[in-house]
Amino acid sequence: MTVRTRFAPSPTGLLHIGGVRTALFCWLYARRHGGVFVLRVEDTDRERSTDEAVQVILDGMKWIGLDHDEGPFYQTKRYDRYREVIGQWLAEGKAYHCYCSKDELEQMRNDQLARKEKPRYDGRCRHRTEPLAGVSPVVRFKNPTEGSVVVPDAVHGDVEFRNTELDDLIIQRSDGNPTYNFCVVVDDYDMKITHVIRGDDHLNNTPRQMNMLLAMGATPPIYAHLPMILGPDGAKLSKRHGAVSVLQYREEGYLPEALLNYLARLGWSHGDQELFTMDEMTKLFDIHDVNKSAAAINPAKLDWINQQHMMKASGEHLADELGWHMQRLGVDTSRGPSLAAVADVQKERAKTLKEMAANSVFFYVAPTQYEEKAAKKNLNAETKPQLEKVLAGLAALEDFSAPAIHALLQGIAEAGSLNLGKVAQPVRVAIAGGGVSPPIDQTLALLGREEVLARLDRALSVV
Ligand code: GLU
Repeated sequence: MTVRTRFAPSPTGLLHIGGVRTALFCWLYARRHGGVFVLRVEDTDRERSTDEAVQVILDGMKWIGLDHDEGPFYQTKRYDRYREVIGQWLAEGKAYHCYCSKDELEQMRNDQLARKEKPRYDGRCRHRTEPLAGVSPVVRFKNPTEGSVVVPDAVHGDVEFRNTELDDLIIQRSDGNPTYNFCVVVDDYDMKITHVIRGDDHLNNTPRQMNMLLAMGATPPIYAHLPMILGPDGAKLSKRHGAVSVLQYREEGYLPEALLNYLARLGWSHGDQELFTMDEMTKLFDIHDVNKSAAAINPAKLDWINQQHMMKASGEHLADELGWHMQRLGVDTSRGPSLAAVADVQKERAKTLKEMAANSVFFYVAPTQYEEKAAKKNLNAETKPQLEKVLAGLAALEDFSAPAIHALLQGIAEAGSLNLGKVAQPVRVAIAGGGVSPPIDQTLALLGREEVLARLDRALSVV
């Protein structure tokens, strides 16, 4: 049997990290088993679904790298199919028209409450044979009235629901539109989903969905209901905690694989290992190892994981994301050192790509002014002779490489009985505009002779 999982977001809000973690677990499970990962957009709630939210889902999934094998399917494009199943069920007696008015339902509810019963539709239209003139009926599914449904849940174990607790669900509204739980069932059936992995806020829908799947003649899939993600304070995750669009994490400078590593560890573990490559996660992930209890986000840990992934990544790998951040800063990187080379010298010096980008602007844009404090200390009459020597030395240097530059600066320092910092720091301020840059020899080598000489020249002109 081929494993087939699906991620089925509703485009009614932002795709936030809770959704991305669900998608990740679906994706990992499919990949681990050589299966298929389906993307389905559950957009039947037409009032609350927006094109913008759909776009965020597509862009977010693309950025994060959870590629789907089939889809995206849109429920709003499948209405004919839903109507077809409803027609079949009506014909087979698995569903029926219900003509109960709002008032009648309200009365039923009040009577039940008065009898201290749980309010539920009592099935009174099940046996109605004649339509009620002038009333557009809803269609209800004939839920079994006896026995129970056991949800075989990979996270929670078997969860049992009594059928007497479930009433006859409306599957088509009086306006002819199918309802949410029914669409999910038809989709999971048509898409041959073998494992439904989703948030545990859906656990209560599952017995109804299983009954409908059985009515379709299907064997229900395996379910895995994931515990919620909480804020650091243990409260339900909200905007305040960073329940923002996943793309905001990009803007803040996180690497997709670092964010995924972090999300995987919210609820799943493999011993006490914290850092995982995508390959490792794919090999090791098992839905049965997901924890039952809710996990709280920990922003400091995300920073740490991101930094670890950046340090291990090649400059080549970081280049695209760094380029994206540079573009956001309005920096043209088409001339100057390659982004991969810049990322290589910067990757151990920043927690996020956003920070790396901010610290790398000087590679592409010469400073037009200098940080006041750094300039006062480093660009002055005392340092001027050193800067002049460096300028002359670099102009004459045969091989403009980091080791040769290092030897030159070292020689100038020794000749003046200074420590290297006294020579290097003024050069740094002249080149980068402030007192922070990667090692000066590498920085100069990357910038290239022409640019370095021009910047030193300019700094000397203000000393
Ligand atoms: N569309 C649902 C949601 O966004 C998910 C439903 C499901 O996975 O079955 O919460």
